[in-house]
Parts: sequence; C-alpha cells; structure tokens
Amino acid sequence: MMVQYQKIKDQYPDAFLFYRLGDFYEMFNDDAVKGAQLLELTLTSRNHSSKNPIPMCGVPHRAVQNYIDILVDRGYKVAICEQMEDPKLAQGMVKREVIQLVTPGTQTDTGAGNAKDNNYLTALTQVKGKFGFAYADLSTGELKVTSLTDFDAVLNEVMSLQTKETVVDKSVSKDVLDQLQKVGILISHQDDTEVKSELSYLTQGVEVAEQMTVLQHLLTYIVTTQKRSLAHLQRAIVYEPAFFLKMDHYSQRNLELAQNMRTGKKSGTLLWLLDETKTAMGGRLLKQWLDRPLVNRKHILARQKKVSVLVDQYFERNSLQEELTKVYDLERLAGRVAFGSVNGRDLIQLKTSLKQIPKLQHILNELPDTVFDDIYERLDPIDNVTDVIDSAIVDEPPLSVTDGGVIKDGYDKTLDSYRQAMHNGKQWLAEMEASERKATGINNLKIGYNRVFGYYIDVTKVNLDKLPEGRYERKQTLANSERFTTPELKEKEHLILEAEEKSTDLEYKLFVKVRELVKKNIQRIQSLAHAVSELDVLQSFADVSEKYRFVAPTFTKSGHDLEIVEGRHPVVEKVLGRQTYVPNDVKMPEETSILLITGPNMSGKSTYMRQLALTVILAQMGCFVPAKSAKMPIFDQIFTRIGAADDLISGESTFMVEMKEANEALAHATANSLVLFDEIGRGTATYDGMALAQAIIEFVHDRIHAKTLFSTHYHELTVLDKSLVHLKNVHVGAVEKNGELVFLHQMQDGPADKSYGIHVAKLAGLPDSLLKRADKILTHLEKTQDQHASVQVAAEDKPVQLKSQPKPQPAEPVAETAETTDADTQLSLFGEPEKKATKADK
Ligand code: ADP
Repeated sequence: MMVQYQKIKDQYPDAFLFYRLGDFYEMFNDDAVKGAQLLELTLTSRNHSSKNPIPMCGVPHRAVQNYIDILVDRGYKVAICEQMEDPKLAQGMVKREVIQLVTPGTQTDTGAGNAKDNNYLTALTQVKGKFGFAYADLSTGELKVTSLTDFDAVLNEVMSLQTKETVVDKSVSKDVLDQLQKVGILISHQDDTEVKSELSYLTQGVEVAEQMTVLQHLLTYIVTTQKRSLAHLQRAIVYEPAFFLKMDHYSQRNLELAQNMRTGKKSGTLLWLLDETKTAMGGRLLKQWLDRPLVNRKHILARQKKVSVLVDQYFERNSLQEELTKVYDLERLAGRVAFGSVNGRDLIQLKTSLKQIPKLQHILNELPDTVFDDIYERLDPIDNVTDVIDSAIVDEPPLSVTDGGVIKDGYDKTLDSYRQAMHNGKQWLAEMEASERKATGINNLKIGYNRVFGYYIDVTKVNLDKLPEGRYERKQTLANSERFTTPELKEKEHLILEAEEKSTDLEYKLFVKVRELVKKNIQRIQSLAHAVSELDVLQSFADVSEKYRFVAPTFTKSGHDLEIVEGRHPVVEKVLGRQTYVPNDVKMPEETSILLITGPNMSGKSTYMRQLALTVILAQMGCFVPAKSAKMPIFDQIFTRIGAADDLISGESTFMVEMKEANEALAHATANSLVLFDEIGRGTATYDGMALAQAIIEFVHDRIHAKTLFSTHYHELTVLDKSLVHLKNVHVGAVEKNGELVFLHQMQDGPADKSYGIHVAKLAGLPDSLLKRADKILTHLEKTQDQHASVQVAAEDKPVQLKSQPKPQPAEPVAETAETTDADTQLSLFGEPEKKATKADK
C-alpha cells in the first residue's frame, strides 16, 4: 500500500495527499507531521514496532470538507485520493486515484459567509516583455484575459482581484515570482498547454499571442486540478484596463474602497456603505464595478439614468428589492449544476429564483421610462427549466440525492408503481399487525423494521406464552422482548425491500436526467444571472442615493471645470452622524489645477481629499454622489498619496513608499487625472521635505496640469500662489477659544495663519510644562529664523518663467478619447449588455 501511496504522492509533491483508507483519509510522512499540527490531529504511526515507523494521521471521511477548507484557507493544496473500486470486490490492491486537487484559487465550496466575494484564480505569462494576464472564478464560470505592459499593472490587478493563487509558466521571471509571493500569493506552475478540444471554444476570439498562452495555461491547470465537468466556464472575455478609471492598489487601499485599512474587513468602507444589494451575485458585481469605474460618458450616463428612475420610483424600487430577496445565487447554482454537485434543494432554489423573474419583469414594465428595456429583455424566465423542476422535484427534498424522496409522485409511471408496491406492502403490514393481535390476543404486539434484521413481529417477554407454536420463527432476542418472522412476512418483506431499492435507484436516475436538462441551459442561467445582478446593483445605488441624500452629478463636455457644492465624505458622515458632519465645497474651475490645503492636524484635510476621490469614483460608477450639486470632468486615473502606508511588498521605509507613490503619479498622471497628495515630504527632515514638496507642486503645475489636491503642514508653501497661477490656497478653519483649539472642519479660501501643532498636542493631553516649553521654543524659532527663506528663493527663481507659462493645455477630455467601439463591448464585460456602437455614438 505504501508503494501505491508513494507513487501517487510523487505526482503531488506540493499538496497534502488525503489518501482514502476505508472511512478515513490518511496522511503519511511529512504530510502527517505538518497536517497533524495544522489540523490539531493526533499523530500516530504505521508499523510502530519497526525501526522506521511511518508518521500518520487521519480525518474521518464525513468531516473531510472542514479539514480541506482549513488547509486551503491557509494557502495549501489538498489532493483528494479516492478508492476507485469497492474494497470488498477488489482483487489485490484497491485501485486509487486523485479525483480533485483543491487549491486556494480553485476552491468552490466556500462557506456562506463569503457569498458576496469572488474567488479568483489568476494566471500570468511573460511574452516579449509583455504580460498576458487572465483570471477565472470557478464557482461562477467567469473568465477574463488582457495584456499588461508592466509588473505594476500586474500587481494592481492581482491586488484588486484579491487573488490567492496565480498560475505561471516558466516564462515568468524569478523577480516577478518573488514579488507575488511577498504579497502572499501562492504560485502554481503549469507549463504544459493541453487544452482539450471541447474547451477550445473558451478561447475563441482571442487573437493576441500572450493572451492565448496565458489562457491555455490557466485552462490546463483548471482541467488537471478539477477533473470534473466545466460546462459553466464562460467564453474568455478580453478586457482592456484603459477603458476603466485607473487606480493603483495603493489608492484602492488608501481610499478604503473595499477594505478597511485598520481591520482589513469590509465594515467602514465605501463598499460597505454602498451595499444594499439583495443577492449574492449583485454583491459580487457591485465589488467589480467599484474596482472598475467607467470612463465613457455614454456608459456612465446610461447607468445614472437607470439610477435616477429608481430613485424617483420609490414604490417600484421597494417591490424590486422585495422580489430580488427571493432570488438565490444563480451564478453559483449554475456552477454546481456543471460540477454535478447540485442536490434537490439547489434545484428548488433555482426554480424559486426563476419564478421571480416574471415578477421582476412586471415591475420594470410599470416604470415610466424605457431605460430598463435592455435589462427587461435579458430577464429570461427559462420556463422549460422551471417546468421540469416543478413537475419532477418535491417541494422539500432531502439533502441527499441517492436516498430517495426527491422525485414527485406522478412524474414517472414506473416509479409510481414501485411506490404503490411499497405503499401496499406497508398497508398489508398494518393489516397483519391487527390480525395477529386478534389471533394471539397480544394487544401490544408490533410489527417493526430495522436495517439489520428487516421486518419483524415484536412480542414482549410476558406475552410469549400466548404465542402459538410452529408458525413463528425467532429472529432476535432483546432484553424485554423477542422478535419473530413468519413465511408471509418474509415474502412481503422481500417485495417491499425490492421495491424500495428499485425506487431509490430509479429516483436517482430521474434526478440525474433532470440535472442534465438543467445543465443544457447553463448559459441561459448565466446571462439571466448577469441581468439580475445588474438590476440589483442599480437598485442598491438608488437606495443608497436616496438614503444618504446623494445627487446626480453632471459631467463637463469639454474642459476641466470641477465644482462640488456641499460635498461630504459619505462613510465619515455615516459614522459621525449627519448633524456633526460639516459639508464642504470643492471649487476648481478650468484655471485652477492645484488646491494647496493648509490647516491644523486633525482638522479634516485628508477627509476633504478622500471625499473628492470618492465622489469621482461614485460618479463614474454611475451612482449619485454625496453633495448638494456636483459638476466634474470625467477622470482617467486617480493617484493618491494619503496616510502612512507601510509597504507590504518591499518592506521599504514610509518615506521611500511616499516617494514611490509620488513618482507613480508624476510619471503617469495626465491633465485628465486626479492627484491627491497628503502632506508629501513630512517623512524626512523639514527643509528636505519642504523643498521636495515645493518641487513636486511646481512639476504638477507646470507639466501635468492634473487636478491636484495638496495638503501640507509646511505653512511656508502658501506663498506659492504668488508665483503659480493655477494654484489656489484653501485652509480648514479653526478658532481658538480660551486657549483651546476648536476645529470648524470648514474649508475657507486663503492660507491658514498658524499650524496649531502645539494646540493639537494640548488636545492630546501632553503635560502643561512641556507645552509651555514648546511655546517658548517656537517663539524663539520664529524670531531667529526666516522661515520663508528657502521658499522665497525658489519662488523668485521661477516667477518670470511661470508667469509666461501658457495656461494649462486642456488635454482631450477622457470621455471622448475612450469612446470607441471597443468601449461598448468592454462595458458588457462587467454586467451590461453588449451593444454595437454606431457612428453616432462616437
Ligand atoms: P487631517 O488630515 O487634517 O489631520 P482628518 O481629515 O484626518 O484630519 O480628520 C480628522 C477627524 O476630523 C476625522 O477623523 C473626522 O472625525 C473629523 N472630520 C474631518 N472632516 C470633517 C467634517 N467635514 N465634518 C466633521 N468632522 C470632520
């Protein structure tokens, strides 16, 4: 047996091999030692009397899923090795095979807790300096592919997809692998590309070499690990990151879009605020939309229009929510149908969900507008599936599909006849019980059944003497009674058991037939799922927009005029409460590209900056925005340098990260970008930092023209508005009351007059004597140093050049550049219908 074990284990060196042995899955050798520790199992050994006992531990087969989940959640792989024949019938060694390799990226039976999360398996190849990148969610069948030009782009994708595992081939450099491993991604190697012909349709339409290669590796990996039907995998969709608002993973983290920076959880994030979706698939689509806001005006407005209609139609929105609540996870149901792991209850969930579809259609029909027509048309109730489930499957089926009780009466004549036989048999038994009681005069005589002995007549010991001789044959003796059978009972028993066995066998066959029929409709179920998800996200947008008093933003057709009136940070507002939160305007007309924000610490500078970023993201997702009114250009990218992010990837110092993020923005931002720099330069010595800050501001001002918010505690920088024509000072107001500092959280024009550091220190409770001393030092410094010196020098250096600097050349607004035919198809990738772009659209 150990020879067989080792042979199989050699094929899966990087996985725990769960080797089926009777009712257990056993692990041996190193697997056992490590497994026992991770799973808290008792480590035993095989051949313990020998010189080299083999370490071993095992888990009961009924509980195996739990143990697999624990290992896979921790980033390990588990190869499940089954007995492929009945040990009783096997001649010699029982044949065993690995039936599935469960890995972090291919795990589909995730717990109910993360129904709203996708589990993405990603793949990477490097061809001529370019990266082919693909990802799949095995539970939903989603499959996407793209080309990326540099590793930063790869990192952005894997971080925002929150993938746990990446499949690579040997073309990928060690450097890249190291970096991926540093962020905790499991690397799986797959060099063969052997996509079976029945899966080749998945790559149809993919023309770029690196995309084809990466897809083939990914699919080969999926096929070799899963070893089961993959009928639900959807044809690969080529996507183009440039057709979406670009944000690097630093920004996604800094802005707390989907992950709270402190807790790593969803609570306290924009996603948390936005998620009023009623279905798990809607929840997943919302996250996808949040990861990829749009840049195409027409597409943004199409979503926005739908949200507007739902905001206005309170009644219909309510009914939509009510009906959506009863729709189950169609996408994952479709996945389970493909895997062959659906049970009767899943089919009932599918039926229940499909029966909701006409109701959703009806509600959409009631809406006064035609903007929902495209979704309406995609709401396909798939009647043939509903009908067959309705006629075949009982309303409350058991969990198991092999023990009977799943198929309805009247669905199949043969089944009915078996059931009739069983029923008649049971009736006959009841009659027999009555007649035996009468004949023997034993009133508590019973006919019963158990699995081992079959049907029996139970007579309590005190009544045994009443039983006539001859006909009764003893079967079993219990403490208080004896059990008997008779020739007639034996005969009936045989008939009943035979009917029962035939009936459960037939039921299973019928169930499989129903499942196969449903399987033929997987693609229809999937496109229906997309339509429902989209509707769900849109109603969620409408719900949130109304609940938090959002308004529809407008987008400037050309130019870069930005004006938010009474904007709010929706998450901070929700946490602080509406009364406490102070709304603020952001006014950046065409000629203003930089707002230099000064004000004391803790006054609300970074909240103000994040608020603008979130407003832009919400707007470009098609949602309303937290403001009284909002007008903005469509942005192509958002760059942020906010807060102290310790770098997980390279373990670099905060200041290094700060400079890298700044560089990221300076290298890639365009006049259509939004840049947020929070206290750049504070990570180093004062003059050093201030000099860098000023140089960065000048660079953005002169060369990039991106809309930029720059907060600083270098008060000295505020004089820059004299030399930089597109820079405007704003500050957060604070007043001193009886020597205490009171924050107003109100943005005002012009520079702040003090940096209030000592006041903040006082608020924080530092000792009085210390504060007095600091005050003294400050006064001294103010007297002895001309704090403005360095800035003045630099500023005077430039004015001539700056004043003659041409007005920032408004670059082509994004919306127009991105309006291409492809942009239309791009949209459909993330849940919206595929439309052919016409000339007029462009
Ligand atoms: P800074 O960046 O100036 O140090 P923050 O933006 O971090 O300050 O804000 C500090 C705290 O002030 C926040 O945690 C929040 O509680 C509060 N705050 C910020 N902006 C507002 C506002 N507009 N209205 C009310 N409270 C605010």
